[in-house]
Amino acid sequence: MDRKVCIINTGGTIGMLPSEDGYATNKDYMSSVLPKVLGPAEGSEDFPAWELIELPELLDSSNVSIKEWNMIAKIVAENYNEFDGFVILHGTDTMAYTASALSFMFENLGKPVILTGSQIPLFRVRSDARENLITSCLIAAAGKCPEVCLFFGAKLFRGNRTTKASSDQLIAFESPNLPPLAEADIDIKYNTHLIRRPELGEKFHVREFTEDVQVAVLKMFPGIQYDLFDGILTSKLKGLVLEAFGAGNIPTESEGLIQVGRKAAENGTIIVVCTQCMRGSVILGAYEASAPLVKAGAVSGLDLTPEAAVTKLYYLFSLGLTSDQVRQEMARSIRGEMGRG
Ligand code: ASP
Repeated sequence: MDRKVCIINTGGTIGMLPSEDGYATNKDYMSSVLPKVLGPAEGSEDFPAWELIELPELLDSSNVSIKEWNMIAKIVAENYNEFDGFVILHGTDTMAYTASALSFMFENLGKPVILTGSQIPLFRVRSDARENLITSCLIAAAGKCPEVCLFFGAKLFRGNRTTKASSDQLIAFESPNLPPLAEADIDIKYNTHLIRRPELGEKFHVREFTEDVQVAVLKMFPGIQYDLFDGILTSKLKGLVLEAFGAGNIPTESEGLIQVGRKAAENGTIIVVCTQCMRGSVILGAYEASAPLVKAGAVSGLDLTPEAAVTKLYYLFSLGLTSDQVRQEMARSIRGEMGRG
């Protein structure tokens, strides 16, 4: 095959080995084992050539943050013209956040960027690592889906639609509100009508995130005492993702949230409402119990995952937009992250 894929290793279970404290990343493992795993396929008609690039420090994805997203984005940008596609090896815990972040950072992406990893490390005899890795390389090389995607459990998802749904099943991810972009059975079948393509004539461009944008996530629960959160509602807080009940409802018996709304409005903090439900959409105003949010000028996140909401806020504020502009952009889909995509 006359195609070339860049594998970027960031860490995660896929390349972990046992340590005294449990599974931990290992600096030399992936570079030594990958030639053995991919070697037999390499040079065959249907497998691409590949190169491995590793982050300076391999991480459990619990420690991946804006700094690492910027590093990954830079690696893709620097190698963009040399490769047909990219495979990012990543821990599963925050893979949906990284996939969402990259989807916003990459403007006019014209090549596949596939995040994958595994629930069982590659060194184990029985592991999902080999299958996830090999199929991701094939999808990246094929170039049929020029989006930031997440491949896991034989399904290719749009990255910014995913969420980690299981800590122990091999099918660890779901895309609750958008069907898979492809399914890897005997053949890899693409749902071509769902796949987004870059604007004709527009060049690929990376927008790095600035590291000082402050956002927070506040999950509603019965008995919530809003004054506990008073301290986080400062003028530095740019965005607040509120995980509400059902279609966007909150406890309204106390005055607490009205205060939160008032304070957020005073500070120019954008409130984005997502639902705690796995599936479905926020419909502000459907119930009286969401009226205070409407009055506070909160934005409906519709079916946006909290992962996509947080990273979209980082992106929009990193662009230097005003609060009003961010509010407008949060209400519409910019990378197929909400609605019908
Ligand atoms: N803790 C690991 C990580 O996210 C879990 C995994 O990769 O499955 O890095």
